[in-house]
Amino acid sequence: MTGAGAKTDCLMEKLQGIAVSPGVAIGEAVVMDSEGFRIPRRFVARDAVEDELERLQKAIAAVSKDVARKRDAVSKELGGKYGAIFETHLQILQDSGLRSDLEEMIRQRHYSPEYAVSRAFNRYAQVFQRLRSRTHAERANDLVDIEKRLLRNLLGRRREEISHLTLPVLVLAHNLTPSEAANLDRNYVRGFVTEVGGPGSHTAIVAEALAIPAVVGTGPFLTEVSGGDLVIIDGDNGLVILHPDEETVARYHHEADQLRTLAARLQTLRDLPAVTADGVRIDLFGNIEFPYEVDRCLERGADGVGLYRTEFLYLGAEIEPDEDVHYQAYSRVLTTMGKRPVTIRTFDMGADKVPLFPPPEDERNPCLGLRSIRLALRNVPMFRTQLRAILRASTLGNLQIMFPLISTLLELRQAKMVLADVIEDLEEHGVEFDRNVPVGMMVEVPSAVIMIDQFVEEVDFLSIGTNDLIQYTLAVDRSNKDVVGLYNSSDPAVLKLIAMTIQAAKRKKIPVHLCGQMSGNSTYTMLLIGMGLRQFSMTPSAIPEIKKICRSVAVKDCESVARRALCLDNARDIKSYLRDELKKRVPELIQ
Ligand code: PEP
Ligand code: MG
Repeated sequence: MTGAGAKTDCLMEKLQGIAVSPGVAIGEAVVMDSEGFRIPRRFVARDAVEDELERLQKAIAAVSKDVARKRDAVSKELGGKYGAIFETHLQILQDSGLRSDLEEMIRQRHYSPEYAVSRAFNRYAQVFQRLRSRTHAERANDLVDIEKRLLRNLLGRRREEISHLTLPVLVLAHNLTPSEAANLDRNYVRGFVTEVGGPGSHTAIVAEALAIPAVVGTGPFLTEVSGGDLVIIDGDNGLVILHPDEETVARYHHEADQLRTLAARLQTLRDLPAVTADGVRIDLFGNIEFPYEVDRCLERGADGVGLYRTEFLYLGAEIEPDEDVHYQAYSRVLTTMGKRPVTIRTFDMGADKVPLFPPPEDERNPCLGLRSIRLALRNVPMFRTQLRAILRASTLGNLQIMFPLISTLLELRQAKMVLADVIEDLEEHGVEFDRNVPVGMMVEVPSAVIMIDQFVEEVDFLSIGTNDLIQYTLAVDRSNKDVVGLYNSSDPAVLKLIAMTIQAAKRKKIPVHLCGQMSGNSTYTMLLIGMGLRQFSMTPSAIPEIKKICRSVAVKDCESVARRALCLDNARDIKSYLRDELKKRVPELIQ
């Protein structure tokens, strides 16, 4: 191993990932460990060097003792073959090359022992990973394991949580769950990158809600950066640039300025309605995950809230939220939105949105398992608590209730029965609520579209959830980077299902809106208007751009675009046709 960590100058490196939240962020990296702590770039004072070296020696000695104990115990119980794994760890800890690298970093460069350990081990692991053999990959894993043990020992109780930041940073992590992403400090986190994750994951959706640039699914790269390194996140093109050179930094600063100018121009449309050039009114609603986002909806000129993902109330909580917690959240949203409509979706947990309680089941196919409305119908007391709070809040504004992931008529009827039961209960106890609250369902499973003419007889409105509809129609995991090329809003099969849903709602004269990410993607605005959609619900930051398109186009032109697009037989041709049409009509939006 000796000498592997000698290289100190880092060359610029570009990583291609999946663009999930637009914008450009330039700044210092914080590398988030899989255990959720971060290694800050710290230096030690010249006169503290000897003490810090001693601290490092003590940490190595303590970890070595621990590893030797494990080796002996494992050898005794399972045999020497297994104990040998820990023997390898001990050899690494005693390696003279590693030790002198660490000493040099602390003595010459005045790095803190934590930072020196994280840097040295990163470099070594990188060398092994590049060799691309199984044995070397295992050795890289051994290194990561030892690094963690050393850091745990060095940081002790001083482990710095990612939630306690004091300076602006870009977060780099292997993975972030939706609730971890939601808990990032909005004052300091300017963007994030994850090695895994897909375009429709809820972590991606949270990034948009936070309005910070984000890239997911880059593949492994964390061994190539250290906390404090300069990084650029290009959230429009899914690029991450490590150790950028001066010219690249200057180019991205210029791009960020241009984006700010465009955003300021679009913001002037805030108080104008989204009316097409031939006078057709389009409603643009906001999607929210947290009550505070209503302020952002109003700032961006939303006509209401088209989707409130209430499951986020459960995700970060240690215990199940009670009725009052629900009520407080809903009343904040309703009172802020005034007369504007607010669609509250009952909790949609499961798949990638797993609460801390009850302990998650080990499901083999979480997307096809006990998620969403299925979970609600298995936990009726929990479902009733939420429904009571929603109904009580209905007196405060213009509220609608929506059930997620309905796949059969019986499921819808069961959910409505629980609701009817809660209504009866409130009436019995003289609790005030609005008796005319509209009840709708999400259309996000192909079976719901196949049966859509029956469904429209039993609901007051529909909402098309394309994030899941794409996943279930094309059998493509929305959170898996390896199938990102197959996860297409523009697939003709998906478009046909959307068209069928819009037409069924029209025939029955009930409202239909689309609340998947597709709604805030400018590529699809003309197509969806042309297909007859008049209500869009999207991440609030996308509203100004979509409004600009609505005000720039005529419905009859959109209809001819839709007719043409629906005649094409594959996602790639449809998407490029739509991009060309948008470029012709609203050129300033295409970079
Ligand atoms: C959808 O599936 O399109 C949707 C809006 O719901 P979610 O993204 O929360 O699954
Ligand atoms: Mg969904």
